[in-house]
Amino acid sequence: MTTDTWEKFSGRMRELRHLESIAGLLGWDEQTVMPPKAAPGRAAATGTLASIEHERLTSPEYGDLIEGLLQQDLGTERRAMVELAQRARDKAVKLPPELVREMAELASSSQSAWVQARTADDFSIFEPLLQRTLDLKARQAEHLGYKNEPYDAHLDLFERGATAEQLQPMFDAVTAGITPTLDAVLGRDDGTRILPGGPYDASAIMAYCSDLLARMGYDMQAGRLDLSAHPFTSGVGPQDARVTTRVRSDDPKEAILATLHEMGHGLYHLGQREDWVETTIGASVSLGVDESQSRLWENHVGRSLAFWEGEFPKAAAALKPLAAATPQSVFRAVNRVRRSLIRVEADEVTYPLHVAVRFEIERGISNGQLKAADLPAAWNESYERILGIRPPSDADGVLQDVHWSIGYLGYFPTYLIGSVYSAALFDAYTVQAGGPDLVRDQFRAGEFAPLLAWLRSNIHQVGSLKLPAQIIADATGRASDGSIDTGPFVSYIQSKYRDLYDL
Ligand code: ZN
Repeated sequence: MTTDTWEKFSGRMRELRHLESIAGLLGWDEQTVMPPKAAPGRAAATGTLASIEHERLTSPEYGDLIEGLLQQDLGTERRAMVELAQRARDKAVKLPPELVREMAELASSSQSAWVQARTADDFSIFEPLLQRTLDLKARQAEHLGYKNEPYDAHLDLFERGATAEQLQPMFDAVTAGITPTLDAVLGRDDGTRILPGGPYDASAIMAYCSDLLARMGYDMQAGRLDLSAHPFTSGVGPQDARVTTRVRSDDPKEAILATLHEMGHGLYHLGQREDWVETTIGASVSLGVDESQSRLWENHVGRSLAFWEGEFPKAAAALKPLAAATPQSVFRAVNRVRRSLIRVEADEVTYPLHVAVRFEIERGISNGQLKAADLPAAWNESYERILGIRPPSDADGVLQDVHWSIGYLGYFPTYLIGSVYSAALFDAYTVQAGGPDLVRDQFRAGEFAPLLAWLRSNIHQVGSLKLPAQIIADATGRASDGSIDTGPFVSYIQSKYRDLYDL
């Protein structure tokens, strides 16, 4: 291999990462501060950017570079970089440029329609754009190809190699494992308010969440916290990971848990190896692993008693009405198990069921059984059957998630993969840290640096060098056969809620 060939290839890789970074910034802007009237212009610009990226990715010269390099002895890291470049390119060349542009443009305008529809609780505003999105996604799946069913093509875009057939057993095992706990817990809750109802000052909540991020080890010189309709993280570029949250004046816990969740994504992004950040391997390996990071901080830290024992005095000082609560009452409030309508507000026990609803519906969409017009009814029926609750409105039903508006079909299952992985990772960290008592001591003392350091070396710094299942297997010291072991997650739920509800 000539140095020249590698230089050319890494120049291309770098350029593609820069384009991704620009797209990330546009997306962040759109969901946080962009004025509403800018939407059509932004949609067009986003389409152009996606076309340029697609053009670069599919250029024959780039293909030749990749082919040539794959014939050479590259060493593990460089080979992984080239193989990932090849994977992205292979997908891109299968897609017609017009389809790529149309999908990017539509994602941008459809998202504005979704916001309007959700605010007005009127699905008809969103329906035509959603149907167009679903049509484009169906075409995309046919171009990309799939193993057993069209849904597999969508899944593979978010979780490398995932198929519906492989994920179904994960959903089944988790549902079977948590159902006895759920049945025992439901009905124990009389529905009375646990935490003071406020009103909580929105700017005080934001200031507190920002301070919390900094204290947890988030570099606020490399990130920021803003408000958005749907909390998200944008890894804009090296040393730039921005998180958002949303606030309610009657309940501060949603903003806090969303902040911790998004922080987990942001820390993963910021923790990538510096010498890899402009390569294909210096990035999140899959959405499932990304979600394992967010779920770990949100649930295993933010929903633990030890965390609240340490954090409560600071929270109560910043959020005045909370002073009437106690660490124990906050702990009970953040772990309250209820049949609820909104996924992002759901407790850990019912959360997998919220994801199961979406998995079932997305499979139906992908296999052509459900059209956009069918979705409100299908959603309500599914919630009633799986969660035992029927949404009174589409805003609290089918319109609650941003994903489909931006073309993210096949993304939802990664939420459950992430929850399942996070439990296995937390078990491994606990053993390494000397046991649960020592971990609780750390949390009570506000010491999160050891946990972050462990995640840095076992997950963040591995980037995309290995396959997701292998990274989790290496970090947890378990053998990997490529399947997803739901055991640690199910045991975690069973034992935590047995204690909490005195079952
Ligand atoms: Zn997330």
